[in-house]
Amino acid sequence: MVPRILLLGGTSEASALAKRLAARLADQAGLDVVLSLAGRTEHPAPQPVPVRVGGFGGAAGLADYLKAERIAAVVDATHPYAARMSFNAAQACAAAGVPLLALRRGPWMPVAGDRWREVADVPAAVAALGDAPRRVFLALGRNEVRAFEAVPQHAYLVRSVDPVLPPLAVPQAQYVLGRGPFGEADDRALLEAHRIDTIVAKNSGGAATYGKMAAARALGIEVLLIARPAIPAVPAVETPAEAEAWLLDQLGAHGADSSARGADSSSARGAGLSAERGA
Ligand code: NAP
Repeated sequence: MVPRILLLGGTSEASALAKRLAARLADQAGLDVVLSLAGRTEHPAPQPVPVRVGGFGGAAGLADYLKAERIAAVVDATHPYAARMSFNAAQACAAAGVPLLALRRGPWMPVAGDRWREVADVPAAVAALGDAPRRVFLALGRNEVRAFEAVPQHAYLVRSVDPVLPPLAVPQAQYVLGRGPFGEADDRALLEAHRIDTIVAKNSGGAATYGKMAAARALGIEVLLIARPAIPAVPAVETPAEAEAWLLDQLGAHGADSSARGADSSSARGAGLSAERGA
């Protein structure tokens, strides 16, 4: 039987891994891949492999899915802040006896000139803005920005993939729609045009949304950075190439065509031994 792989997606790394696996599928019929999305965006970008959308019904629902669909391996390539899904994946894979790998980018690290203040979560970011009016760029999910209605003295610029509806109940809010990647020059122009003095963002890591961080440094803008949530300690890698090699190693044990195994297989074995960081 052709081994089935479940990719838990939502990130550019998940799409990049899907693209790699689709290229292998074109080469030979030795894999069957499904990419799962949470369904947070209304029009997700087209993907090179079949996609399913929506929750599984917790860890138990996912364990049932793994068995029903005869999933041979899972790659958790969800967003670093999608902690619930990652814990569900760890629990479900352990229960169903399915190998699991996390594909997760490392966090951004501060460099000279950065003015970052880490806050625990969105409510802490709301509190950290203080009483004096600020001009704030909210680089958060549209479901998270509503908390800022509690501090309506600030002027907001909200960037999201889909519109924030209804608009925030604050006197000063402007909206810009966009899907990354966002470059430094464009983000700098945006921050200057709106006279932004504070950014609220997640420490997503990777290049696609780093533009605003580099622009903030150049302009001396303070960034309230929401801390990464704790995630389960499972074998983890940082790049789609490593995840592909791990998968081919795993599927070799499940009877996949051994000719599909790439030259990087040894690096995947090493990567499989490393445990994911906590917060
Ligand atoms: P979450 O809190 O970890 O997940 C909540 C529930 O959504 C999960 O329990 C699961 O439902 C479902 N879910 C999440 N990812 C899924 C996937 N890939 N396939 C199927 N179901 C999935 O994650 P979240 O609510 O999506 O987001 C949490 C944080 O991550 C937010 O800060 C958000 O802005 C950020 N984020 C998420 C994504 C994304 O693609 N999910 C992208 C960018 C940023 P069941 O329990 O029913 O299975």
